[in-house]
Amino acid sequence: MLFRFIAVLAFILIGSLFFTPVSLAADGIVPAQNVAKNVQLAQRPPGQRQQQRREGRPNQQRPNQQAQPTGDGTIKITLLGTGGGPGGGGPNLITKKMNATTLVEAGGQQFLFDAGRGAMLRLAELSPQHITRTDKVFLTHLHSDHIVDLSDLFLNGGGRGGRPNFYVWGPKGTAAMTDHLAKAYDWDLSYRTNPRRQKLKMIGKDISEGQVFDNAGVKITAFDVNHWPPRKREQDREEFPALGYRLDYNGHSVVISGDTRPTGNMVTFGKGADVLIHEVHVGLDGSKRGQGGRPVRGSHHTSPIEAGKIFAQAKPKLAVYTHIVWARKSEQDLIDLTRQEYSGPLVVGQELMQILISNKVEVLKR
Ligand SMILES: [Zn+2]
Ligand SMILES: [Zn+2]
Repeated sequence: MLFRFIAVLAFILIGSLFFTPVSLAADGIVPAQNVAKNVQLAQRPPGQRQQQRREGRPNQQRPNQQAQPTGDGTIKITLLGTGGGPGGGGPNLITKKMNATTLVEAGGQQFLFDAGRGAMLRLAELSPQHITRTDKVFLTHLHSDHIVDLSDLFLNGGGRGGRPNFYVWGPKGTAAMTDHLAKAYDWDLSYRTNPRRQKLKMIGKDISEGQVFDNAGVKITAFDVNHWPPRKREQDREEFPALGYRLDYNGHSVVISGDTRPTGNMVTFGKGADVLIHEVHVGLDGSKRGQGGRPVRGSHHTSPIEAGKIFAQAKPKLAVYTHIVWARKSEQDLIDLTRQEYSGPLVVGQELMQILISNKVEVLKR
């Protein structure tokens, strides 16, 4: 009886949203199967609605499943790109593989881990609303293949529903980098600022190992990884910090390595995670590591055998590869090498692959 009453109420509420003059459907978010989200939308600040009225519908397409933020207890991961390094992971891949950027949606919020080449366009492929919702970016480190789309995402903030602030967390050097970027675009930012539109702000924050975010049930923890330059000495690693991240929500977790040599922290922070996402250099022979002399080329990354060892110790429900440097090897090579050490669930990331974490882990291929 109660269920029937709620269903009728939901029907009326959803119906009223569809026929409201300021159509919330313009946001692309009409989760017919979830009344709670509609209620949340109905409580948006008035300024945001006015902005929608001024700008009209950002696009005329029907709201779709992709455009909905998750607020239903699941964690949704989208691999916006899977390429490793500025060239996309190997010769001729630059147009096929975007830089490794990972979108995580949880608790009605959206988080971007890195913002490499193609992040902006890949978000647009999901929905235009994924771009306007982007205002929280967590950088693993400051290599160009992890940051080049920051500016584009930031400068599109005019569409961020009246929220001018764009937050960027990352290792030491992040705040200086974001300050420089904002200065570089000052002419454009000033030009587009007016009494009704606040100046966009990029707010960078240097962080180190520890919990760095806690809101609406989503906790994000940063941890040190090992990505100092191969031609330097380990004593110099302080100058070249790099971070991995663990996101916890609703009793589930996803752990992202960023760029790293094999490091015990991936086991410490990845232990028992639902999804463990690791970088890999398929052509790297990690067997020569630590034998002294000149480090092997690319040794600030992880070989498939080394990653396999980490997966075997951390035992995630699902191990996922992204930031894949292919080095003329095939997917089968990558799988075979990993299988020397790890026999659990494994997925080689593909562009726009999605992984849903609830009481089970599902993989959706594009
Ligand atoms: Zn990289
Ligand atoms: Zn790197």
